[in-house]
Amino acid sequence: MNFEKMRSRIFGLEDRLVEDELYRIVWEEIESNKIDPAARARSIEEGAGDEGKTRAAYIKHRVRRLKTEFEIHQRELNEKNERAKEAVDKKSAEKHPKTCSLCGTKLGLFNARGSLCASCSKKILKTKRFVHF
Ligand SMILES: [Zn+2]
Repeated sequence: MNFEKMRSRIFGLEDRLVEDELYRIVWEEIESNKIDPAARARSIEEGAGDEGKTRAAYIKHRVRRLKTEFEIHQRELNEKNERAKEAVDKKSAEKHPKTCSLCGTKLGLFNARGSLCASCSKKILKTKRFVHF
C-alpha cells in the first residue's frame, strides 16, 4: 500500500472510521491477491489448521501491521519536516539577526528570544526600580 494514497484516504477521519478504512484497504489487498507474508505466517500459526480462523486472523494481523507501518511512516515524515524547518529557521536567523529594539545593537543567537540587549535591559531594570521606590 502506498502511504501517500493511504494518508489521503484516512486524512481527517475519526479514529473509528480510520479503522474501517484500514479494513477496507486490507480487503482490497486480499481481493487483488496482495498477501502480506508476515501477517500470513502469523495467521496460519494462530489458525492452527482452521481455515476460517486463519482468514480472520490474517485480516486482524494485516490491519495491525498496516496501522503500525503507517504510524512509523508518519513519524519519520514528521521528523523529516521538523529537521527541514529547523534548517530554514537557522538560515533565516543567520540572514536576519535580531537587533535590540532600543539601541539597535545586534543580538547574539542566544539572545534572539529577547528583544533588548544586555545593557538596555539593565537600564530598563534601573528605571523600573527608580519608579517603584
Ligand atoms: Zn540595546
